[in-house]
Amino acid sequence: MANVPTIARVTVHPVTYAEPNDNNSMRFLTFVRIESTDGHVGWGEAITQFPGSTRGTVEIIKGLADDLIGKDPTQNIGIWRDIRKQTWWYSYRGGLAHFALSAIDIALWDLKGKITGQSLIQMIGKRDASPDTRIPVLASTHVWNSNLDVEVARHEKFIKDGYIGFKIGMGKRGDARVGYDLDRDIKFVKDLRAAAGPKAWIMMDRGQSLNWTVDETIARVQAWEEQDLKWVEEPFEPWEFEHFRKLRQHTTTLFAGGEREWDYRGYSEVINSGTLDVIGCDVGRAEGITGALGIIRLVEAAGLWFNSHAWSSAVNTAASIALSASTPRCLLQELKPDENPMQHELVDEPFVAENGSIGVPNKPGLGINVNEKVLAKYAF
Ligand SMILES: [Mg+2]
Repeated sequence: MANVPTIARVTVHPVTYAEPNDNNSMRFLTFVRIESTDGHVGWGEAITQFPGSTRGTVEIIKGLADDLIGKDPTQNIGIWRDIRKQTWWYSYRGGLAHFALSAIDIALWDLKGKITGQSLIQMIGKRDASPDTRIPVLASTHVWNSNLDVEVARHEKFIKDGYIGFKIGMGKRGDARVGYDLDRDIKFVKDLRAAAGPKAWIMMDRGQSLNWTVDETIARVQAWEEQDLKWVEEPFEPWEFEHFRKLRQHTTTLFAGGEREWDYRGYSEVINSGTLDVIGCDVGRAEGITGALGIIRLVEAAGLWFNSHAWSSAVNTAASIALSASTPRCLLQELKPDENPMQHELVDEPFVAENGSIGVPNKPGLGINVNEKVLAKYAF
């Protein structure tokens, strides 16, 4: 079949950039470009975050690239299975191979869509028949200013800018020190509610650098619930099932977590533990779109909520929005609210919140145009 395009070229493009949404800390991502013999190009990304994990992922992708040449990119799920099999020794239950597979898988879905003229959402199936499905959109933020009044004003503006609410990551870079002082944390959420109004969705996300005891977490979450907290994310480490169970006995808010899992095995465990209501999943980590679709099936079967952990580039966001729109078990789409290079420079039509929601990309593949000059500009 001479007409079937095959994979002609696989290249890997690591970048580093200052992230305005994270107090301008340096972040690292790994992009993959896959070109077919008929000239179509697909893009994928892994959210590798750190220099060492980025270097390692680059090398793994280079190691897998030769075997991709000559394959039919429309047989992408078969290729996904082959890579899982090929990396058996260093991918069991997670690791850098999952970053590599994620980037390759996303690029192959993009390429397949471009070759066949289908958008990702057409290929994976939309959750409803509406011609204009829109997903409620949330500002996913970190706080860093030591003066929390400044942070309250900043978050009030996100509501005015068209977000339904915000999720605040604590224990991050900067001087905000939210998550350390119980009384101060309680006042902060009270002030946020007063500024954002009664309808705004407010979520709090602990962050792994903070260590909370069960008792102080109960006190914190109960006080936040008085401000109509929508969910608390990772209040404990993912494996501290007993802590979650104790917290559950004293609170009613939703518990979110899961973003540190790598594959269906890890997700099966946290889902079966019964500790979470909202399952976070990063498409640039959990074996790509193909991996995430499997996790969505687990979430749907358990009657939980799926949440895309899309805190990365526009490649990741494009795939994430389609995944969100594919399942009725999704409440919202997260977006980084401050302009940043990997969302606003990388593509010509950046994703934006409009009146509290965001549309689903409908052009072929991921539906975005990646500017390669931007990848060169931020090359790592
Ligand atoms: Mg989180």
